[in-house]
Amino acid sequence: MLLGGIEAGGTKWVCAVGTGAGDIVDETVFPTGAPEETLARAVAFLTRSGPLDAVGIGSFGPVDLRHGRIGATPKPGWQGVDLVSAFDVPVALDTDVNAAALGEHRFGAATGIDTFVYVTVGTGIGGGAMTDGKLLHGLAHPEMGHMRVPHDRKRDPFPGVCPYHGDCLEGLASGVALKARGGGRSLELEADYLALGLLNLVTVLSPELIVIGGGVLKEPGLLDRIRRRMPELAAGYVALPDVVPPALGDRAGVLGALELARDLVAAADPGASAQRR
Ligand code: ZN
Repeated sequence: MLLGGIEAGGTKWVCAVGTGAGDIVDETVFPTGAPEETLARAVAFLTRSGPLDAVGIGSFGPVDLRHGRIGATPKPGWQGVDLVSAFDVPVALDTDVNAAALGEHRFGAATGIDTFVYVTVGTGIGGGAMTDGKLLHGLAHPEMGHMRVPHDRKRDPFPGVCPYHGDCLEGLASGVALKARGGGRSLELEADYLALGLLNLVTVLSPELIVIGGGVLKEPGLLDRIRRRMPELAAGYVALPDVVPPALGDRAGVLGALELARDLVAAADPGASAQRR
């Protein structure tokens, strides 16, 4: 079985062909350009490597999963772009964070854990979740970065950078927000906001584990501060899971995308899947 995987990011696309994480035949990375050109590049690369059984795509969002399109993104030119039709093989489409969650579940920090959350804090904030072994979708898909968190404007007068909500979690705690607010007490505030966000996720989903990564989490001491702050905010009431960095680093997305493709093939042919396992 030969599979294609695409981590379709807002700044770059990572495309891989292989039979799985341990057997990547070919891989390429290119910057996200105009939609048509970017998709054509991905199709050309994946086609070159031979006939594929399926392609998995983990895309930046929002994603209209029902129609296989990019949703209402502020990224110029990308709203409504069809991510699926350009490929002449079956395509499994999910969010970039759900794909990364799947990667961490199969090969990384969440191996053997069936209910967990994967959060990434970079330019924006996104989260994917698995509950009882299934990626969580719902009506559309979760938008964890846009949850509202308490914002004490006396302590932090910064209005936030989210174009839709101002001071949602992403608006207050994304990499862009950190930069815009400037230094000083940023790290302490950052840990507080992220701990509040994670605690909200804990109260709703009761995850057995939280995997949190992304560029902002590379800041020394931040993860420890978040881990300290969560029990204080929880005040002894809820069961708190471990909070750990991703084991696959920035490989989670593309490896998870390959697994999306694998699951699609398995769903179409359950007999073959049983044999393989
Ligand atoms: Zn927002």
